[in-house]
Amino acid sequence: MNNTQQHILIIGAGLCGSLLALRLGQRGYKVTVYEMRPDLRKVDISAGRSINLAFSDRGIKAMNMVGIQDQIEPLCIPMNGRMLHDLEGNTSFSPYSGRHEYINSISRGGLNALLLDEAEKHENVTIHFNKKCKSVDFENTTALFKDYDTNTEFEANADVIFATDGAGSAMRKSYYLGKKFLFSFSQNYLTHGYKELSIPPTEDGGFRTYKNALHIWGRDAFMLIALPNLDGSFTVTLFLSFDEGEYNFNNLTTKERVEEFFSTYFKDALELMPNLAEEFFENPSAPLGTVKCSPWHYKGNTLLMGDAAHAIVPFYGQGMNASFEDVTELDKVLEEGHTDWETIFKIYEANRKKDTDAIADLAIDNFFEMKGHVNKANFREKRQLEMALEKTFPTEYSSKYSLVTFNEELGYQEAMLRGRAQDKAILNMLADGIISNVEDMTEAELKETLENIKTATDNILEDDRIAGMKQ
Ligand code: FAD
Repeated sequence: MNNTQQHILIIGAGLCGSLLALRLGQRGYKVTVYEMRPDLRKVDISAGRSINLAFSDRGIKAMNMVGIQDQIEPLCIPMNGRMLHDLEGNTSFSPYSGRHEYINSISRGGLNALLLDEAEKHENVTIHFNKKCKSVDFENTTALFKDYDTNTEFEANADVIFATDGAGSAMRKSYYLGKKFLFSFSQNYLTHGYKELSIPPTEDGGFRTYKNALHIWGRDAFMLIALPNLDGSFTVTLFLSFDEGEYNFNNLTTKERVEEFFSTYFKDALELMPNLAEEFFENPSAPLGTVKCSPWHYKGNTLLMGDAAHAIVPFYGQGMNASFEDVTELDKVLEEGHTDWETIFKIYEANRKKDTDAIADLAIDNFFEMKGHVNKANFREKRQLEMALEKTFPTEYSSKYSLVTFNEELGYQEAMLRGRAQDKAILNMLADGIISNVEDMTEAELKETLENIKTATDNILEDDRIAGMKQ
């Protein structure tokens, strides 16, 4: 029996929820979405949230699935690599790939608005705003909402409920508090939080620094990054400890101290940030954490997706991409023709959980890479070699970053296992002097190095497998 006559309720019309509504709408389901906040197409609600995001191949695959990638492209600014800024303000450019692959900076609001517009084009999809989910009765497939327009409460029921209500998910809380099944949950905060600042455009709307890069001021204990916006501005994010080190969020309490901090560590950025002090005290500092939980579903009644199921720290630029990939993966199971939701959810979760666990761990690794390792000689040498290998043997080598970011047909877990083993192999060979003088290598020497890396990587993977580390 076809199950598209069923009524589906989605909680949260953020990036994942609006894409899910669009896809299920395209498939013919009757979909109702309830979103806590006002309609972002009518009210500016961007303050305090990441204003732009790195959007890459896994996200693009999802946009192609729903047929809107051509509308997304004008919203994107390609970022070809990292622009590293040292303490003196010198810059060096490190490409993301030797194959001219790039990631994109995209506005969260612009992307979300487009997805909402597209979802609403389907008459079987209805989106309600200002309706906050308070709890979900997952046994009876009903959800309790507070209506901010009328200041009343109401209950909504459906055949199936999807919660895409982000890192603080109300349905996940109901799973946890309900104690009706074996629900595992962990939430781990970083010591560091983030604050958004900006570099404004020039008077004629131009960019004050190089446009097509993700700028990084990595300082080991903390880091500043900047991503370009279409209006010529950059959204700048400071990642800093709340209470450790000489400078931290808790002790940066005066304009003078903030300016002292920036002039000591981010001199060249400070010159581009005329509104720094104002923004620093106006904009919130928010925590960063990883949420893992399981199971995501309760029978065939409910399913957590996106950040509600797996919130991760932002350092791989993959949280949104992974949430979009959730929808692609769910769709793959629907495409197989299953109609029983419990079967669909079980297959989906069995395929997906290992990959979202992997990207959560990779994102933590990248925190250390971005704020410190990118400045280290062995890391730079490794990147130089990897760029040469990708350029010379484009079908034979992909760095860990490329496997994760540009290989959307490869699951995150496979990308992590292979990428980590490759990194280990190359760093060992550099430390032992087996690889040196990368810039002077002939193609034959590069080929030999590639073969050695492949053998060493396979040996590491085999050792890990024997040690039971490969899941
Ligand atoms: P959200 O986008 O959080 O959407 C959840 C929606 O549910 C919201 O609209 C919310 O208002 C609504 N909601 C919440 N509670 C309720 C409720 N009780 N009832 C009804 N509605 C509710 N990812 C990338 O891929 N690239 C990046 O560069 C990147 N940078 C980031 C930078 C920062 C600083 C942060 C914090 C995150 C970043 N991410 C990035 C991660 C990305 O923002 C998330 O992974 C993505 O937003 C997840 O989408 P979602 O729809 O699951 O959750």
